[in-house]
Amino acid sequence: MAEKDLKALFLHTLKDVYFAENAISRALPKMAESADSPDLEDAFTTHLEQTREQIKRLEQIFELMGEKAESVPCEAIQGIIKEGNEVAQTFEGGPALDAGLIAAAQAVEHYEIARYGALVSWAERLGLDEVAGLLDETLDEEKETDNLLTELAESEANEEADT
Ligand code: FE
Ligand code: FE
Ligand code: FE
Repeated sequence: MAEKDLKALFLHTLKDVYFAENAISRALPKMAESADSPDLEDAFTTHLEQTREQIKRLEQIFELMGEKAESVPCEAIQGIIKEGNEVAQTFEGGPALDAGLIAAAQAVEHYEIARYGALVSWAERLGLDEVAGLLDETLDEEKETDNLLTELAESEANEEADT
């Protein structure tokens, strides 16, 4: 049952986040364009740059493991992105748009934090120390982004929405 062990689960999940990061990199430009606040637009643009580096980091991990960089479809991220697009459309032109965009983006970050958190633990368990270190760098970036989004919501967007 070698193909159903922790290493196989790790690789499967790596392919899931590879799919997810690529989908996120396609969604972020539109989110940046939709944002009313220049600070929020900057946050999305900065995270797009980070996301592109995260994709390269995943490719580096596949290479370290002697595996081909492949995706398996992640329906969760597709659903989260779709929900974000719906909120953006529904609240376009209104004061609550940015609050909605931030909450949608945080759903993306929380998905990533859940997945990368598991991947780091599994990599450590499998003795893949270099891989674990690379995944942990990405995990930190996702957490920082989530914190920045909370700050933007609480310092401006939520108040703006409630007027
Ligand atoms: Fe990411
Ligand atoms: Fe997934
Ligand atoms: Fe992210």
